[in-house]
Amino acid sequence: MNHILVKNLSVNYKNFCALKSVNFDVNKGEFVAIVGKSGSGKTTFLKALAGFVPFLGQVTIPKNIGMMFQNYATFAWLTVSENIAFGLDGKNSKEQIKIIDEHLKLAELEDKRDKYPAELSGGQMQRVALARSLAHNSEVLLMDEPYGSLDAYTRDKMQQWLLNIWTKYNKTIVFVTHNIEEAIFLADRVLVLNDQKFVGEYKISFTRPRNESIKFSPEFNILRQEIFESLNQHLVS
Ligand code: ADP
Ligand code: MG
Repeated sequence: MNHILVKNLSVNYKNFCALKSVNFDVNKGEFVAIVGKSGSGKTTFLKALAGFVPFLGQVTIPKNIGMMFQNYATFAWLTVSENIAFGLDGKNSKEQIKIIDEHLKLAELEDKRDKYPAELSGGQMQRVALARSLAHNSEVLLMDEPYGSLDAYTRDKMQQWLLNIWTKYNKTIVFVTHNIEEAIFLADRVLVLNDQKFVGEYKISFTRPRNESIKFSPEFNILRQEIFESLNQHLVS
């Protein structure tokens, strides 16, 4: 069943065309990754899905969306617990405390509840952002290069953590990255964005749960190369 459906989506910034007649669909519970070079329109695409930029065409998406960016995923002036609780209006304080406690545990940040984002590592900050989206019961998570600024070790750990959460909560995820390896490891499907549109689509059929070791398999490397070539084909033409 389609959870997100996009038809003929175009985004223009004044005279500049950032996306041109893009079609896209995601099933409920599917994990889709989008790879593309810097400037290819990845952030613009997520913003259009979230309704943050004017667009032409048709976007069908659930209302309850969680959006996570690389650098400004948390509110700097709120503590970890306050970040998770932010916007949980309409719930009484007892309910709120329960939700906060549950999501602090999920994010493995029980000992950081009263800290501010500036006192956290990059990985911890991203976990706060995701915990906030889950606390709000977002059905769809739009993630814009969330792990782009993390070191390789933390990135690997965060990928595993995200997959565990995704499996447990059955969310629909659209994950943008410029890292091909990350896209293949995480996703059910990888789309390549280039020249204002999607130019390639790859089904990733590694069984789940996935282990780091698949990254060293021949199948993984074949996919990596195909996606790399798809990303680069438009340079020479
Ligand atoms: P990516 O996230 O893949 O790096 P973006 O979606 O941020 O790409 O940008 C796509 C293109 O649109 C780039 O050429 C960028 O310069 C341009 N762009 C992005 N935002 C704006 C804006 N607000 N006004 C004008 N051009 C923009
Ligand atoms: Mg971007």
